[in-house]
Amino acid sequence: MSKKQPIDLNFDKNHIWHPYTSMTAPLPVYPVTHAEQNFIYLESGEKLIDGMASWWSAVHGYNHPVLNAAVNEQLKDMSHIMFGGITHAPAVELCKKLVAITPPSLNKVFLADSGSVSVEVAIKMALQYWLSQGITGKNQLMTPHKGYHGDTFAAMSVCDPVNSMHSLYQGFLPQHVFVPAPQSQFGEEFDHNEVSILETYFNQHHQDIAAFIIEPIVQNAGGMNFYHPEYLKAVRHLCDQYHILLICDEIATGFGRTGKWFAVEHAQIEPDILCIGKALTGGYMTLSATLTTDKIAIGISEGEAGVLMHGPTFMGNPLACAVACASIQLLQSIDCLKQVSQINDWLNVALAPCRELKCVTNVRVLGAIGVVEVDHIVDVADIQKRFIELGVWIRPFGKLIYLMPPYISKQPDIEKLSQAIYTVLASRE
Ligand SMILES: *Cc1c(COP(=O)(O)O)cnc(C)c1O
Repeated sequence: MSKKQPIDLNFDKNHIWHPYTSMTAPLPVYPVTHAEQNFIYLESGEKLIDGMASWWSAVHGYNHPVLNAAVNEQLKDMSHIMFGGITHAPAVELCKKLVAITPPSLNKVFLADSGSVSVEVAIKMALQYWLSQGITGKNQLMTPHKGYHGDTFAAMSVCDPVNSMHSLYQGFLPQHVFVPAPQSQFGEEFDHNEVSILETYFNQHHQDIAAFIIEPIVQNAGGMNFYHPEYLKAVRHLCDQYHILLICDEIATGFGRTGKWFAVEHAQIEPDILCIGKALTGGYMTLSATLTTDKIAIGISEGEAGVLMHGPTFMGNPLACAVACASIQLLQSIDCLKQVSQINDWLNVALAPCRELKCVTNVRVLGAIGVVEVDHIVDVADIQKRFIELGVWIRPFGKLIYLMPPYISKQPDIEKLSQAIYTVLASRE
């Protein structure tokens, strides 16, 4: 796109829907001309330090030469080709890598177009698996409160029923069984009562439940809850005991964000089905994957349907697969876990002063995620304007102001992001 033509904000305002906004009273949008490393450049000339990694995805920052080269190379061969009856090197190479880096039992890969779709596919896998075993009646899911799994209908039906769109679509969404959100925090003591409570739900509902779906260790958009690995271990154990499949949604946590390649590693468990997305392509384009075990895949394939009933048009898109391969290779070669652990140290120090503020109820850091929770719902338009004046890109939601910067961020960038949060909150005390 030409950088010389001004971006038509008026057209944008009158015709284009942005995420979760109104068409009559939209939140302001900031025209961006380009982005480089962990910096975002506004049309007005400002340079912002990125604290969001474009919603968990741009782990290497923007305009990365290695990722650019992967896309350019692939463009010369083909940007897209249907995946029905055809295969290609980028897809095969990517799935080899995914099988290698995910927990060992996950051997079968379904490539889908977005995180929400990978969740839909995971749910289909679970339902089809039980049908293939001749077990009927397992047509509900179990999931904790405070979850977030996407905006398509099946995914939405397992999002937190209070802080989501459930009431809006009442009567249309399938009904599932919600268990209490994990309470014991990561790094603190585990309250074993949580297991007994979980067990009562498993005991009461197991015959109706096909799968338990959960975001491992970090519940993201549902409240940035960093919970104790023992909770996840208990869920795995109960799923085995009560013949329920475990779906782990690592769309946000995958690829190092929590300090492990995959957050399930904190609990040393393996799910039956794993969803990944967001950082999969290093934030370059949309792609997701649902992985499962031999047992589930063979079960589905030997069932009555004989096939998994899903096949998106852009399945296995070669451009997306090629850049995903390059991104994973880059994460491996630069030792992303070391970068994440450094950011963790910097965030811990730089966000600490926020604890002194009256309006701050909690400050928590895990991996390359820093959260400042306040006692009031934040006015997004207003606070975002202040952040931009301070040269940072941070987009809070609800009572949460949080950072999940690209892994390439340097210490002064993390400090500036953290100080901006402090400055904006302190100015209101
Ligand atoms: C973002 C997210 C999704 C949905 O992914 P999309 O690509 O936005 O459809 C699902 N689950 C979790 C945990 C997410 O963070």
